[in-house]
Amino acid sequence: MSKELKARIAGILPKVTYFIGYGTGINTIQTAPLFIRKPEQVNAMLWNRFCIHNLAVYVPPQKRPPVAPDEKIGLILKGCDSRAVIQLLQEGIVKREKLYIIGVSCPGMIDISKLQGKIDINRITKAELHEQTLTVLADKAEVAADINDLLYGKCLACEYPNTLIYDEFIGQKTTANPRKGIFDAVTDLEKMSLDQRKAFWEKEFSRCIRCKACRNVCPICYCQNQCLLDTRVPRWTQEQVDTKSNEWFHLIRAFHLAGRCIECGECARVCPVNIPINLLPMKMNKELFDIFGWRAGTKAGEKSPLMDFKLEEEKL
Ligand code: SF4
Ligand code: SF4
Ligand code: SF4
Repeated sequence: MSKELKARIAGILPKVTYFIGYGTGINTIQTAPLFIRKPEQVNAMLWNRFCIHNLAVYVPPQKRPPVAPDEKIGLILKGCDSRAVIQLLQEGIVKREKLYIIGVSCPGMIDISKLQGKIDINRITKAELHEQTLTVLADKAEVAADINDLLYGKCLACEYPNTLIYDEFIGQKTTANPRKGIFDAVTDLEKMSLDQRKAFWEKEFSRCIRCKACRNVCPICYCQNQCLLDTRVPRWTQEQVDTKSNEWFHLIRAFHLAGRCIECGECARVCPVNIPINLLPMKMNKELFDIFGWRAGTKAGEKSPLMDFKLEEEKL
């Protein structure tokens, strides 16, 4: 992390109850969300090409340690993550004055799983970045790869590399340079016949172990104890984990996220069995975009078409 960024976080800490950023993960190629309360803890903070977590998941008050009514929290947000905060503000889940946001320009995050097959990614002990090349070491084997070949899919399609809503921005803003479309994967699915799509999703749902990590990591899923997918009365989903129950679980969730999903891809990233589950809410988003030109979390002050109503729409 640059000295400037650390100094700014240290300077902000007296104004906030805690600051949420990134710290060391379980190994050299992973980071983890880190909460700090004191300026001397700032040296544990990291900002590098492995800071993939969307920290906006901690913005809803029910998903983080409480703060007093007159206190606020600080956090660092990438461009994609900041869309979640805009959406949460629109939904009235948090008040703007409760947040102190540091904005950054993001160069794209490295998906180390793309090295699987070339090296045992679970045994990486060293990773070095020189300009556009990442070199990793595992069990005496060394592999070097161009970072452009290792970026997450969402980074290749990134339209918002700069934080969209912030109290202060550190560094220079960058220009978006998407190399593919955000809805490309959805469009590929749409090209399949209905039977092919049904077979695709049945296969994926049959692999789901219903761990609910996809729901828990989502910054826009904040119902917590009130979640319809957990309540017993009325009971909307069955406890048993099978293809049909899993389908029901995921379709309910996708409908609840229609026009609200901010396309951060966290749900798919954390899935332990690699189900591309983000494609379901993304499909709903594509519909909302095609009909209303709406992209969640990009227009501060405006509401999703599914949360708003215009009188002239009666005639449609
Ligand atoms: S989508 Fe954009 S802002 Fe988000 S991690 Fe990738 S490059 Fe950074
Ligand atoms: S994270 Fe993956 S396995 Fe877990 S509930 Fe979601 S789709 Fe199923
Ligand atoms: S549904 Fe997935 S991609 Fe959409 S906001 Fe939630 S975690 Fe991000």
